[in-house]
Amino acid sequence: MTSTTTQSVVILGGGPAGLTAAYHLTRHGYRVTIIDRRPLLGGARTSEDLCDSPEPLTILGCHHATQALLRSLHPDPQQPAGAAIPLEFRLHDDSLVQYPRTWLPAPLHTWVNLMRFAGIPWKERWRMASWVERLWEGDERLPADLEQRTADEWLGSIGQSPITCRVVWNPLARWLTGNDLSTMSADAFVTSMRPLFLSTHSNSRISVVQNSLQTCFVQPITETLTQVGTTILRNTEATQFRYERDHISGVLLRDDSLLQADWYVAALPPQQLTPLLPERWLTRYAYFQQLAELRSVDSTILHVHAEQPRATPRLILLGDTSFHSVLATAARPDHTGFSLITTDSQFAQTRPDSDLEAHIYDLLKSSGLLLPKSTIVSTHRRTIPNAILSLRPGSKLHRPIQRSPIANLLVAGAWTDTGWPPNLESAIVSGNRCAETIASNKPV
Ligand SMILES: Cc1cc2nc3c(=O)[nH]c(=O)nc-3n(C[C@H](O)[C@H](O)[C@H](O)COP(=O)(O)OP(=O)(O)OC[C@H]3O[C@@H](n4cnc5c(N)ncnc54)[C@H](O)[C@@H]3O)c2cc1C
Repeated sequence: MTSTTTQSVVILGGGPAGLTAAYHLTRHGYRVTIIDRRPLLGGARTSEDLCDSPEPLTILGCHHATQALLRSLHPDPQQPAGAAIPLEFRLHDDSLVQYPRTWLPAPLHTWVNLMRFAGIPWKERWRMASWVERLWEGDERLPADLEQRTADEWLGSIGQSPITCRVVWNPLARWLTGNDLSTMSADAFVTSMRPLFLSTHSNSRISVVQNSLQTCFVQPITETLTQVGTTILRNTEATQFRYERDHISGVLLRDDSLLQADWYVAALPPQQLTPLLPERWLTRYAYFQQLAELRSVDSTILHVHAEQPRATPRLILLGDTSFHSVLATAARPDHTGFSLITTDSQFAQTRPDSDLEAHIYDLLKSSGLLLPKSTIVSTHRRTIPNAILSLRPGSKLHRPIQRSPIANLLVAGAWTDTGWPPNLESAIVSGNRCAETIASNKPV
């Protein structure tokens, strides 16, 4: 792409959202400076501790922005190799059941898959399928108050029993959004299910990319940015925006230096963005006031390695346990890696490690993931503070669009208003939108 401008952009935050914005803006010819307070780019999920046991990445067929970016970063069609895997559920009697994926045209396959799914009792399946069918045919509109109701209350009202909610809908909601049915809005639940289940066959594909976020995303973007002369400042924390009237005139850093540019993209979590804003803007603009209404919860990820032959990747959603899912992948030829995620901070923080290991051992054994003679060789636990945006009733209104009331400030991040739950796709969509907005505008 040819350079049409010499305008400059400072991007605060080198997570997926900030890196995506930087990647596109440099391709449009902008002079970009990207800063992150941590020594490693890649955002909250990346950690120096994980260099020896990279965290596999799950990408859904409906994540079109993520796939487009990966294709742009890896023009070789073989890279990064992603294995398609079925979605499995562990039921209350420890049996496993797969969610079917038929090759029928849309929307028929959605209905057939649901009717063939043995994880839900026949009567409830029928009620859900006929409700979905009426929705397609336009007989039934979604209730207008879904954003004000919790997902479990709404599912109950359409004939889903508490046990089905516990073993199917709750693990699914927690895996897709990090949120529990009892705390998230019914609207957030429907919005997160729709692209995966109520769409085309290819959109319902689940693939596991064995390469970590670092290898397939962060490293190639960083290399491209370095090649085009982007300034990347690691260990550099923004502490305050400086302003003149209703424009940002610079961003003050922890070492008291000032960075100045034509445009600013804040690709930070909301808790880190609000302290940077002038008091005057926080009181004057509803856009910024609403950020204070957003809540987040911690997420703990457990990496377990077992000495057993290389596994075919598997994803099992777990009901009735603190961990909502377990992803089994080939860590090394003779090792299987398991990633377990929970947002139950109490469980993760209070249990002594020996108890936790025994619990994990039982969980993996009873799910058929650990072979009879296999042993666990290492367990590594990491808690990421404020990692998951709470999608509680009413929160949709508080997620901001990319364009702020300040003409030269844009906001990016998985937590912003992208129509997606707070995931990698949402972060990438927000980064794309910031780059498009800047490229199609001149600062006022
Ligand atoms: C355990 C876990 C597993 C996940 N797995 C998947 C998955 O398999 N698939 C998927 O689609 N999604 C997954 N997600 C979600 C996805 O990783 C996140 O939604 C995404 O990383 C969010 O990116 P972001 O750029 O919006 O924010 P962040 O990743 O939070 O990046 C923000 C950056 O800003 C920096 N920063 C903060 N304050 C300042 C400051 N004052 N100055 C300078 N820099 C600052 C931070 O250091 C950070 O690097 C997972 C999330 C977690 C927690």
